Amino acid sequence: MDHQPKAKIDPPAEKKMLRTSRFPGFYSLDVWERLDKLGEWFPLSTKEKWILKNETLTAEKADVMIENVIGVFGLPLGVAVNFRINDKDYVIPMAVEETSIVAACSNLAKLIREHGTLSARASHAVMEGQVQLVNPHDPDQAIKDIAEAKDRLIALANKQDRTLVSLGGGAKDLTVHRIETESGTMLVVHLAVDVVDAMGANAVNTMVETLGPVLAEIAKAEVVCQIISNLCDKSLARAKVVLDPECLKSKTFSGMAVAERIVKAYHFADADPYRAATHNKGIMNGIDAVLIATGNDWRAVEAGVHAYAARSGRYRPLSKYRIEGGKLIGEIELPIAVGVVGGVSKLHTGVELLLRLMGLPSRRELSEVVATVGLVQNLAALRALVTEGIQEGHMTLHARNVAYSAGAIGDIAITVANQMIQEGRIRFDRAREILKKMIAHKQGNPENDGQ
Ligand code: NAD
Repeated sequence: MDHQPKAKIDPPAEKKMLRTSRFPGFYSLDVWERLDKLGEWFPLSTKEKWILKNETLTAEKADVMIENVIGVFGLPLGVAVNFRINDKDYVIPMAVEETSIVAACSNLAKLIREHGTLSARASHAVMEGQVQLVNPHDPDQAIKDIAEAKDRLIALANKQDRTLVSLGGGAKDLTVHRIETESGTMLVVHLAVDVVDAMGANAVNTMVETLGPVLAEIAKAEVVCQIISNLCDKSLARAKVVLDPECLKSKTFSGMAVAERIVKAYHFADADPYRAATHNKGIMNGIDAVLIATGNDWRAVEAGVHAYAARSGRYRPLSKYRIEGGKLIGEIELPIAVGVVGGVSKLHTGVELLLRLMGLPSRRELSEVVATVGLVQNLAALRALVTEGIQEGHMTLHARNVAYSAGAIGDIAITVANQMIQEGRIRFDRAREILKKMIAHKQGNPENDGQ
């Protein structure tokens, strides 16, 4: 008998394979039930569930983070489910007030995991700091002198952050650029720093502030600004979706027709900055929500992303679409400066917990997730836009928001919202009318109905 050794299944690996971010019916659970379900994905104590539900940040902690604190400000916290990126499942936290973002993202991620693939790749975590030198005595000589002092300057920068250097990061390169401005010739020194798992602003700012006076002396110039650049185009993240168009079919269009319309919508955005702005806003809907939930500086990413979108001289979309080999292919490329250490990653209780829930990703992995969410969000918005339109998807929650604003609560708000959807009239004044009518009816005063 042939005694072939049986393939040994390592139990933890087997368990890992079964770990799926596919949570059918998650949306229909109540908040505690969702937290319980999440607890099956990642062990959460009752206290941790309570923290996620009620107190991701206390005023006492907030008081350490910013000045003049009077409280903490709430935002809805949800999780996008169904994501499978680079063959790994993710449950992705999103903090955002706009309806439909989490749902659109999760729904499309479900379609993609069934009919396509999502892959992503981020480059090294290199951030650049700039030192502005004005009135150089002899610009050409200054450029030569700075180049000669390069190794000494990099070593000086690295003395400012031993931790970063011990982790394999730190200042790696220094270049000088000459620019002509309204204030005359300037030299701008770029210091490239590998920030490993940090966002890097404090680390880089400390380094360039140390180098500034030294560079001024070498260049016989005056130093003005010494600060990180948020256009971190050495820290790019790319994501790609490959999808069988059939799964995109709508009531009116075949799947391939939807895919073709998506490509046309992309070409529109590529040719027209008015459309490109909204195209990119759809991308940032997903990205910002993840950045906020993971305690990242979304202003920094927004600044970098929009500057990158305009790098050709015209503001353009960050993602592109094409049909190839019968598949719809979408790709995104954008600079992502995120950190999983430093900043508020340890201070903010919710952030600390949510990063753990994501499996404590490296900066690179988080950048890949962020870029992918941006792409999936964008494709979800484009799909709606080229088929039934954006409003239909927004309808239910938007109608509930309007009903709540008009004073309805609980089941009454749902009834008011449903009636407005049925009538196709989702307006504050109509919500008030319906509400008044319901109250009058309940009080047995139907003659006041609709007054
Ligand atoms: P930080 O200084 O809090 O943490 C980074 C430091 O942590 C590193 O310098 C390193 O010494 C240490 N560290 C420990 N383990 C590390 C690891 N594995 N990888 C990398 N570093 C490790 O934070 P930061 O990332 O330098 O700065 C981020 C903060 O700066 C954000 O809160 C941001 O809002 C703020 N900020 C941004 C700007 C801007 O974007 N223009 C300007 C100023 C400040």
